[in-house]
Amino acid sequence: MTACSDVHSSRAGETSSVQQTTAPESSEPEEITSVSVGHKTPEEYGKVIALTFDDGPNTTTTGEVLDVLEKYGVRGTFFLIGDNINEQSAENVKRAYKMGCEIANHSKTHSYMNKMSAEDIKAEIEFTNEKIKEIVGTEPKFFRPPYIAVDKNMFDSIDLTFISGYGCEDYEVKVTAEQRYQRTMDQVKDGAIILLHDQQGNFRTVQALEMIIPELLDQGYELVTCSELFFAKGVELRPDNDIVYSYAEQTTMY
Ligand SMILES: [Zn+2]
Repeated sequence: MTACSDVHSSRAGETSSVQQTTAPESSEPEEITSVSVGHKTPEEYGKVIALTFDDGPNTTTTGEVLDVLEKYGVRGTFFLIGDNINEQSAENVKRAYKMGCEIANHSKTHSYMNKMSAEDIKAEIEFTNEKIKEIVGTEPKFFRPPYIAVDKNMFDSIDLTFISGYGCEDYEVKVTAEQRYQRTMDQVKDGAIILLHDQQGNFRTVQALEMIIPELLDQGYELVTCSELFFAKGVELRPDNDIVYSYAEQTTMY
């Protein structure tokens, strides 16, 4: 319990102090600034976990996931499908970024990309990179392959770090919130990436998060973005290394 409230208060304090100094009213178009990472050295981190969310953004479940993250003062990484980004759903992307969450690429069309030409692969990535840049001002560092389907051509064509993660089949309606919680907790370990979905209507994952987050905090985990996870573990991002990461210190392809 103390671990939980400690993490919450220090994280919340950090967030507000940074935001106060980085929100000038004068900037021309709307300029938004994420909470910066890097107040700590890798040695100052304890156990870390990256919560990640696929298949948004949307105007419903994405916001509900953000509500839970905000309630506990934690951050996650959102892997966006380019075709889901529109004026309305972009509001939740901005909100996530302002909260210190990381925004990443989950293709344009959410198709199997392991049989595409290099040209088509690059078009999928570029489209979503550009959309993300329009919203938050910077291009993403991470890519989650749709269906975690990869081939050599994809590694050669995509200049981003590939991310998989430990999933709980939360895209299946029949998997209850309790099962999502249990399956996630069975798999967690220091440095792990947890794969969840904020697709439209996935309320059972929102319910599961209400159990997962307090339990992880209680166990002493710090919930961080993907960038921060690798930083905390002292792992350099090398997009040319043909690894699909499920945890930061992974050295094999899967
Ligand atoms: Zn997906």
